[in-house]
Amino acid sequence: MNSDKIHIILTGESGGSRTLLLDRRTLRRATFSLISLFAFLFAGTISGCYHWQEKSSLEQKLAEVEQTSRMRQDQLLDELCESQKELRRIRLQKLRVIDQYESKLARLRKETEQIYSGDIHKRAKLIKALMEEVGIRFDFEEDPSHSGGLYIEANGNGEGTVMDEADRFVCFLQKLPLGRPVKGKISSLYGRRRDPLNHRKAFHAGLDFRGRRGDKVHVTGSGIVKRSGYQRGFGNCIVIDHGNGYETLYAHLSKRLVHKGDRVARDQVIGLVGSTGRSTGSHLHYEVHYRNKSVDPLKFLRIAKLLASKK
Ligand SMILES: [Zn+2]
Repeated sequence: MNSDKIHIILTGESGGSRTLLLDRRTLRRATFSLISLFAFLFAGTISGCYHWQEKSSLEQKLAEVEQTSRMRQDQLLDELCESQKELRRIRLQKLRVIDQYESKLARLRKETEQIYSGDIHKRAKLIKALMEEVGIRFDFEEDPSHSGGLYIEANGNGEGTVMDEADRFVCFLQKLPLGRPVKGKISSLYGRRRDPLNHRKAFHAGLDFRGRRGDKVHVTGSGIVKRSGYQRGFGNCIVIDHGNGYETLYAHLSKRLVHKGDRVARDQVIGLVGSTGRSTGSHLHYEVHYRNKSVDPLKFLRIAKLLASKK
């Protein structure tokens, strides 16, 4: 039999000794077990390190994700705040618009009430009466190209009729030649007179206003220029068509400032006072025609005066 035993002698300082007797196979097993244990421990340590590292990296990622989500959350909250502010602003704006609309509506209602309560109607009646008093008839032709105004649907109560009448009346008045064309004093009236040049009996179809050369001549009502040119006798002359059968004529001008076809508004300057044509000195000859017949312009001057005084 093989001697497979190992003797391990342990000696102490005092001189005593001890012998350990080990079997070779046992030793091999022990060594193997020991190596296995170390290998296991080493693998465990490596694996542990790896997992620890993995865990750290995951934790870091998690922290990053949390931070990003917090930032996003903050951002979303900010956006929400902004949206709420915007919403409040829009609501306020909406309320303001509603307020404005309501006050406008209230004003319109009030105006409508005033109209129907007869204010305009009374005024129209008053003006009509004044016009009849001085001999001017209130009748006009329908002219769709020179009209407009508020549309009110006609109903059975006659309210539409009142508004229509007032509206048409305002339009009529706007075009009617009223007031003076120049500031100067009247130097010759409408009617029979002695001709200032040949001193024979004659008919003066208009009014003469004294004026200085270059004084502004204003149109007495809105309309369209029918004629603007030089005419024998009248010199530089302008004729305005006011519609409804009315026309005005401005003669002896030094300068004409409008052309045929021009639209003119009441009080607009259309020319300058002069002494062109058959004239003895600087003045404006002014005529008013109704349905192609001359009428006394003084009536229309009077109306303007009456209207101004009854306001
Ligand atoms: Zn004259």
